[in-house]
Amino acid sequence: MKQHDAMYIDGSWRPAEGGGTIEVVNPADEQVIAVVPAGSAQDVDAAVRAARAALPGWAATPPGERADRLAALRDQLAARAGEVAATVTAELGSPLAFSTAVHAGVPVAVCGSYAELARTYSFEETLGNSTVLHEPLGVVGAITPWNYPLHQIVAKVAPALAAGCTVVLKPAEDTPLVAQLFAECVDAAGIPAGVFNLVTGLGPVAGQALAEHDGVDLVSFTGSTAVGRRIGALAGGAVKRVALELGGKSANVILPGADLPKAVAVGVANVMANSGQTCSAWTRMLVHRDHYAEAVELATAAAAKYVPGEKTGPLVNAAQRDRVRGYVAQGIAEGARVVAGGPEAAVPGTGYYVAPTVFADVTPEMTIAQEEIFGPVLSILKYEDEDDAARIANDTIYGLAGAVWAGDEATAVAFARRLHTGQVDINGGRFNPLAPFGGYKQSGVGRELGPHGLTEYLQTKSLQF
Ligand code: NAD
Repeated sequence: MKQHDAMYIDGSWRPAEGGGTIEVVNPADEQVIAVVPAGSAQDVDAAVRAARAALPGWAATPPGERADRLAALRDQLAARAGEVAATVTAELGSPLAFSTAVHAGVPVAVCGSYAELARTYSFEETLGNSTVLHEPLGVVGAITPWNYPLHQIVAKVAPALAAGCTVVLKPAEDTPLVAQLFAECVDAAGIPAGVFNLVTGLGPVAGQALAEHDGVDLVSFTGSTAVGRRIGALAGGAVKRVALELGGKSANVILPGADLPKAVAVGVANVMANSGQTCSAWTRMLVHRDHYAEAVELATAAAAKYVPGEKTGPLVNAAQRDRVRGYVAQGIAEGARVVAGGPEAAVPGTGYYVAPTVFADVTPEMTIAQEEIFGPVLSILKYEDEDDAARIANDTIYGLAGAVWAGDEATAVAFARRLHTGQVDINGGRFNPLAPFGGYKQSGVGRELGPHGLTEYLQTKSLQF
């Protein structure tokens, strides 16, 4: 795997000012696999200056030409998909098949969707006696997490570039290598110097410097609610635009009449994928009292397939593993019943593994029913009737995603309308890279993906005639 001891700023790779470094560890074997620069506030400043200098030229580039460059970027990502998958597996720990299908595959689709949107979107509209221009917002500071490391980069950078904005990216410290690979792809795609810049570094240093920088017009952040709240406050103080994609505690509501074996199997798979490190994971399964015992049995059997070290990877680092273990212990202490996995279940001796765990007899006020665990842990809750199910589903601070299963689509849709959440999959509906993704309540501010994601990077000007 290729790595850079430099950062991609203004179209070339240059060393960090301070000389600090960050070790990248493979969470499956705990070995250091790379060392990348720890960018300082000066590096962030250099990158923001480069992005500002490149802004007028890129903003004035016709959308069709921006589309051509994004199509070239998509082709680069597609051509290097094998390297992307291997890199994400090495630094995040996800099994190679999942890295190939999701971590490498989804960014190609999303980048392609923005090549298409840049070409077809109406950057001008007529409203009465006005022409409304949709203009690029400016310089974007993008701060991304490690759980879907390339997807989260592309979900910000591709719409920003489609809109005519320029970008400084600060990726997560656990997964900087796929960000370096992305920067190589940007370069090879012929995107002009300064339009995209990469500063690797620590959150409280490089991330904070980027969020605070006067030269940044929009901060787009994905990660924890705690950091998101700080970034939102900083942006509010400076009156700059902010987009926040934060945590979730999504409900998978299985209504009477649903195909129970299918709903449970898909629900368990949804939680265990990526070792549970998915902000939109359906970590609460809600089942009617009449079907509860059967659902618990089905979930127990389904969880057994997620063998740690085979179908399920490790957690990203030791701190995340310890955090997840802490939640499992707390679930037991609060009276939930382990029906799969748990603290005694076997995991590989090396690597940051937690056994995929299913809790039954979870009640809505328990910590494991309220807080985002970010690990392979499913809580199964019982409800009495639809009103009770809706109340439980909506009873968290989050509202990012969810699922409803019913005997017919109309029943499921009627229930989905009652959920305070940004996305709901109906009877196993597929991921749609054009559908707006983002949160109600404390799951965030703004939407990513598709045309709704593009508008985040635009501001409007009205001309009256
Ligand atoms: P985090 O919020 O600390 O990190 C996300 C990004 O923010 C990283 O690039 C990090 O370097 C940066 N960052 C950290 N502190 C910063 C600061 N003060 N100013 C600016 N940028 C800063 O998330 P984490 O510690 O990696 O994970 C902790 C928890 O967050 C997880 O357990 C999970 O609950 C949640 N999380 C959610 C998502 C999501 O997609 N919604 C992704 C990752 C983590």
